[in-house]
Amino acid sequence: SKKAVLGPLVGAVDQGTSSTRFLVSPGNLLYPLQVVLGPSGFVAQKTSFYINEEGLDQLRIATINCSVCNLNNMSLQKLAPVYWFFMYIILFWSIVWLDLRTQSTVESLSKRIPGNNNFVKSKTGLPLSTYFSAVKLRWLLDNVRKVQKAVEEKRALFGTIDSWLIWSLTGGVNGGVHCTDVTNASRTMLFNIHSLEWDKQLCEFFGIPMEILPNVRSSSEIYGLMCLGDQSAALVGQMCFQIGQAKNTYGTGCFLLCNTGHKCVFSDHGLLTTVAYKLGRDKPVYYALEGSVAIAGAVIRWLRDNLGIIKTSEEIEKLAKEVGTSYGCYFVPAFSGLYAPYWEPSARGIICGLTQFTNKCHIAFAALEAVCFQTREILDAMNRDCGIPLSHLQVDGGMTSNKILMQLQADILYIPVVKPSMPETTALGAAMAAGAAEGVGVWSLEPEDLSAVTMERFEPQINAEESEIRYSTWKKAVMKSMGWVT
Ligand code: ADP
Repeated sequence: SKKAVLGPLVGAVDQGTSSTRFLVSPGNLLYPLQVVLGPSGFVAQKTSFYINEEGLDQLRIATINCSVCNLNNMSLQKLAPVYWFFMYIILFWSIVWLDLRTQSTVESLSKRIPGNNNFVKSKTGLPLSTYFSAVKLRWLLDNVRKVQKAVEEKRALFGTIDSWLIWSLTGGVNGGVHCTDVTNASRTMLFNIHSLEWDKQLCEFFGIPMEILPNVRSSSEIYGLMCLGDQSAALVGQMCFQIGQAKNTYGTGCFLLCNTGHKCVFSDHGLLTTVAYKLGRDKPVYYALEGSVAIAGAVIRWLRDNLGIIKTSEEIEKLAKEVGTSYGCYFVPAFSGLYAPYWEPSARGIICGLTQFTNKCHIAFAALEAVCFQTREILDAMNRDCGIPLSHLQVDGGMTSNKILMQLQADILYIPVVKPSMPETTALGAAMAAGAAEGVGVWSLEPEDLSAVTMERFEPQINAEESEIRYSTWKKAVMKSMGWVT
């Protein structure tokens, strides 16, 4: 059969909670395309698992944690049905990244951690939490008979969503490649971030058979298709190649990553240690410290879908602008407990400081402020772990179109916030890695080849004392949110 060859086609897919973004490059031009997956709530969030039951020989289990692939000689039209197909499957079979069904699994695992409590963190950089793949896979093995059976019969394979795409696009049941890259592997909780291999002791601890895991490769090489974790891709897309450079992505959650170079920095303040990228088989690995906030854009969606005080996410800006203050109201959206820096599963959401004067505009403002305060907590932790305070923060993600949020963020961090004019940094980073791979050569990642991106800058506009008072009141509210679930 005749294959459509479009020249060196490098592409990237950023599969977010609310929409899927494609970035394709026939030749050297990048074309962003966006597919909005509505209606809301239709697509389960990232870090899900799904089980393919379409009569395939192999049972596939994937986590949706990342989302990028090189579309060598593959047209976008061909890829889209694959996406739609797995979106439908996810709808029925998902344990989403914010899902708390794995809480009891975490509790029973934490009671039998071998040696000291550092066993998991020292190998993976991650705290034992409902957030990561190993715990979700353990849950599936314990609760879904079909998964257990498929593993027993050696029909099961496990991977993150990138490995699902690669496997599907390289032939699936007819000999598809089963692999992932270092960045995605580093978020499964089964991967040793020092040796860059699956860890036998961790697999034994979680009871996961090693033969179902994908091969782990670098983030920039050809193996049919290639991939990079979403947050790591955004770090590359923001060109944070120097030690100490950091970016924050504001989507459903918030993810602040700081490049720590070849060194694995372990946090004393609740941050994760993760693989940032390895751009080529023979290139060195880079690590990052990461702070993850579970609920950021999701709080705006909650105000829209659960309270109905706005019809679209964009309307939040208009409401907040009407008052320009929360009037002492603080909103801690700990819907799934608190992630970094607290890692507190017992927390639940609270709105406090209400008076008879408080209205929906103040609550809207407090919701935006909550996103900024949570980022401040992470930035503080990062500054303490790294020892060198950040001079500015590079930002991206769906929420950054909100100018009030960006200004508030600069006020609350008390450093400038800088936003690139090209908003699809995750897809851009993945495309950069794909195009620079050995044998592809669409472009290189040498400094002289990286053209400057235009930036929008937000400077702090309030005084430092006011910023500190608001932040310390927020901390008081956070304390009140803890301990709701016992
Ligand atoms: P993801 O990649 O997690 O799907 P996106 O980067 O697409 O997230 O951002 C979508 C999130 O941003 C949604 O949760 C939405 O509520 C929020 N959002 C979108 N536009 C705005 C806005 N103008 N103001 C505040 N939040 C917004």
